[in-house]
Amino acid sequence: LLILGIESSCDETGVALVRVPDTAPGAAALPVPQLLAHALHSQIDMHQAYGGVVPELASRDHIRRVLPLTTQVLADAGEPLSAVDVVAYTRGPGLAGALLVGAGVACALGAALDVPVLGVHHLEGHLLSPFLSADPPEFPFVALLVSGGHTQLMRVDGVGRYAILGETIDDAAGEAFDKSAKLLGLGYPGGPALSRLAEQGDVAAFKLPRPLLHSGNLDFSFAGLKTAVLTQAQRLGDALEARKADLAASTEAAIVEVLVKKTLAALDATGLRRVVVAGGVGANRRLREQLNAACQQRRVRVHYPELHLCTDNGAMIALAAAMRLQAGQQQAGRDYAFDVKPRWPLDAIVAAA
Ligand code: ATP
Ligand code: MG
Ligand code: FE
Repeated sequence: LLILGIESSCDETGVALVRVPDTAPGAAALPVPQLLAHALHSQIDMHQAYGGVVPELASRDHIRRVLPLTTQVLADAGEPLSAVDVVAYTRGPGLAGALLVGAGVACALGAALDVPVLGVHHLEGHLLSPFLSADPPEFPFVALLVSGGHTQLMRVDGVGRYAILGETIDDAAGEAFDKSAKLLGLGYPGGPALSRLAEQGDVAAFKLPRPLLHSGNLDFSFAGLKTAVLTQAQRLGDALEARKADLAASTEAAIVEVLVKKTLAALDATGLRRVVVAGGVGANRRLREQLNAACQQRRVRVHYPELHLCTDNGAMIALAAAMRLQAGQQQAGRDYAFDVKPRWPLDAIVAAA
């Protein structure tokens, strides 16, 4: 079974082709789907001048990119378009206009090929993306989903079996990185740049808050941190330039400490011994180092997506569709009258499964 996946929820156009191997009769576990090819176009350069994503520009660029990327993926995989058995697309959450491009193209392809289509939850894609890594996880596990728009701890018992244990009450971790980076003049999205600069800084140089660290629950709050970074930057004035790396390092350390400690608390609360990290912030080096060290000490296994699959991509969408079909969680259908869901809580899809 060949699944073509299309991602267009925000500022990345991603297309991928995944093969679902036949399940051997009597096999104990389902075979992990195989990524045959994927291609990505990031719009970051286009949005950079505006300091953030401009929705209308994003939609228009997805329209320009999606078919050339599809052609490229099929060529890379050595498969004709007619070999595609299912077309999957990101149904939400995300920017409505951007989602409509992927959904529209996916359904048009589905109708033209007379094959079923399947709308995928973007966060389920992030969540399952570590299954494409060299060290895929096994259910059940605690998931730390840390992206540009979400920060959640979940108990994951299988495909479509997600219980949210805690989440951010304001900004996401990626937002905390991006907004702090913006205050330091590091461009957009500044997470990776802030992280690079932090490597030359002193994590203990500035005292920054660790919001909700001792809240006794598994929720997060990052809005106050950004304000604290702003206050420090204003206090420094002209001296900021010389202390930028220190402030970046202190900011990153504050975000990472909260993420790691809350993840450990989620392990304690669930009694599980496996963690999966997903989403763009999962690429952060300090987060990986600190979490690896803490988990090694506790003999807990940690799994990450491949670095290039942490941020948005088509592979995770094709993969999530593949795993849903394998698990019998969802049928692909021939309803080409698509809709998109700009707002769509992840735990809402459990009921529909
Ligand atoms: P969502 O998936 O919640 O809708 P999104 O798709 O915009 O949001 P992702 O693509 O998963 O989010 O991740 C983008 C975020 O990851 C940005 O906030 C970016 O700054 C952050 N990020 C990427 N790499 C790093 C890094 N190395 N360190 C810190 N943050 C990073
Ligand atoms: Mg993005
Ligand atoms: Fe995302």
